[in-house]
Amino acid sequence: HELRALDQAVIGCRSCPRLVEWRERVAVEKRASFRDETYWGRPVPGFGVADARILILGLAPAAHGGNRTGRIFTGDRSGDVLFASMHRVGLANQSTSVSIDDGLALVDTRIAAAVRCAPPDNKPTPAERDTCAHWLHSEVELIKPTLRVVVALGAFAWAAWWPALSRVYAVTPPSPRPRFGHGSLWAADGVPSLLGSYHVSQQNTFTGRLTPAMLDSVLSQARSLAGL
Ligand code: SF4
Repeated sequence: HELRALDQAVIGCRSCPRLVEWRERVAVEKRASFRDETYWGRPVPGFGVADARILILGLAPAAHGGNRTGRIFTGDRSGDVLFASMHRVGLANQSTSVSIDDGLALVDTRIAAAVRCAPPDNKPTPAERDTCAHWLHSEVELIKPTLRVVVALGAFAWAAWWPALSRVYAVTPPSPRPRFGHGSLWAADGVPSLLGSYHVSQQNTFTGRLTPAMLDSVLSQARSLAGL
């Protein structure tokens, strides 16, 4: 219930003027192939179970994906890759994610974005990143009792985890920060392990920088680290 209240609060956020303008403009202008659809056009809250052992952390909603459907990684190519892999390794009940009422359910997992509104060119500013961080911290606080592993999709999410670590767990992040890479792992006693994966963006999946097998491997490792 607390998570639901948090989701509602996130949805009403208008703290970043540039992102509010962009998410709403995209929702009006639309992409030609979706012109008959009503876009969400608001912040996209986290999605998944309340007692998550795994948190998959992305960058931000896609303009015509989460910003259209209202659910993170839903209705875009990145989500196609992510949920197919989650289904293969047993973290989702189905391999596709097309709309909020498609029956998708996650297993022991929650997915959230470091920045909750779609940014132009998928690039939030540092100020927007910092402004949005408190939503992530509140969400982590609520799933803290069960959370064991954070999978950072990309360097942005990897970097967004350290402030959460100090804020929610009162643990000073290592200095220098461990470097992000595909399969990078940072672990310490009493806090969730951090596992890196290349982002599921088309840029990475079309070029083969991130293959389905590579993603399966990281998500399987996340399962083991989470004791699943
Ligand atoms: Fe609010 Fe985050 Fe959206 Fe900024 S990016 S308006 S802080 S939800």
